[in-house]
Amino acid sequence: MTKLTTTCFVLALSLLSYACYAQKIKVKKLEKNVYVHISYKKMGNTNVPSNGLIVKTNKGVWIIDTAWDDDQTKQIIGWVKKNLKKPIQQVIITHAHDDRAGGIQAFLDEKIPVTSTQLTAKRTVKSGLPSPQPVLKKSQVIDCGNNNLEIFSPGWGHAPDNIVVYLTKQKVLFGGCFIKSTDTRKLGNTKDAHLKLWKKGLLKVQSKFKEVETVVPGHQDWGDGRLITHTMDLLDVSLHR
Ligand SMILES: [Zn+2]
Repeated sequence: MTKLTTTCFVLALSLLSYACYAQKIKVKKLEKNVYVHISYKKMGNTNVPSNGLIVKTNKGVWIIDTAWDDDQTKQIIGWVKKNLKKPIQQVIITHAHDDRAGGIQAFLDEKIPVTSTQLTAKRTVKSGLPSPQPVLKKSQVIDCGNNNLEIFSPGWGHAPDNIVVYLTKQKVLFGGCFIKSTDTRKLGNTKDAHLKLWKKGLLKVQSKFKEVETVVPGHQDWGDGRLITHTMDLLDVSLHR
């Protein structure tokens, strides 16, 4: 084999292994101008899905949480470019774990601002990921033109820094890992969780967003306000074990 054919062969092989390795994201329409991005991470025998949001407004696009990694986050950016044809204005990270923040670099490469609370920024850096801009307050409304994004920090639950985001127009609550899908009977990764405070935080969320119609959890299927009470039930089981 000539040197050139060998190089081509190695290149083809690495492209092939990349194609096999890279997981494909899914984007599902939730409401008019609101989409859920779903990315995947292989953990043992299971391929764990993770949800984030894409919100289109007349001021541009807002993204809540990255995919698990940079490759899948690039796919989200590509999807927005192709389908929404508006610039991404801001990315909001709802806590510092890799299912929320693992793809920060992909946004930074495109000069898209990635933001979080101070605590999340600190914890993200600690976990070895690039820092979001620590500009979000614990309670704040972001004016997106024809929509509002309400940031709310309910206190330590799944993680000390978890926040939720409410879309005023569509009455959609993005709970992230603070809220569990009714598909699961497990609390998931609780290594950074505070079970007692978590329940108190859920009560705060419930009374703050009384009009909520759709609740999107960090993983698996979404539903209505019952996801909040379902998460409380799971916590009761764990606390009384
Ligand atoms: Zn988490």
